[in-house]
Amino acid sequence: MKIGVLAIQGDFIEHIALLSKLGVISRQVRLPEQLEGLDGLIIPGGESTTLSRLMSMYHLRQPVAQMAQRHKTVWGTCAGMIMMAHEITEEDPIPLQLMDIGVQRNAFGRQIDSFEQDLDIAEFNTTPFHAIFIRAPVIIRVGEGVKVLAELPDGRPVAVRQGNLLATSFHPELTRDTRFHQYFLDLTANQANGPGQ
Ligand code: GLN
Repeated sequence: MKIGVLAIQGDFIEHIALLSKLGVISRQVRLPEQLEGLDGLIIPGGESTTLSRLMSMYHLRQPVAQMAQRHKTVWGTCAGMIMMAHEITEEDPIPLQLMDIGVQRNAFGRQIDSFEQDLDIAEFNTTPFHAIFIRAPVIIRVGEGVKVLAELPDGRPVAVRQGNLLATSFHPELTRDTRFHQYFLDLTANQANGPGQ
């Protein structure tokens, strides 16, 4: 299974480290040709306005969208989730429109308002997932084919899946908990066996 991590900005090193803990050597992606042959791609957290600009500059938008259309898995964390959205509440950045979700950036305030929260995730087992939110976005609209995997105690969704596509407001790569990355790898393996599951 070949997994790529978009490595133009943000915390891609942490994703790569967590994947290697699971025995997966991933590929850093900076140019469109580096997407070739991949089964899955992670778009890390960082700054979505910068990510958006660099993705345009390096001609990465269209090939990433094609990957998603070809049932390859794509997972965006935090700023990556903003890029996955269909629409966001501001004009900048321009999202990739891969998932049928609406997203609000910086929904909890400034950097100082970052927080951690234990989340119950039905897909995993009974142990809550300790989620780290750093100047995080929140999902404000969930389309029909989108499954909510986790929500905050107030009911706002913060992890969603739509077929082969995954988005999380928080940063599993900043914890030692490998369950979300394992979930993404399992999803990728399932897609490789036959899309649309
Ligand atoms: N606030 C950032 C943005 O809007 C996201 C922060 C993050 O990825 N940790 O892009």
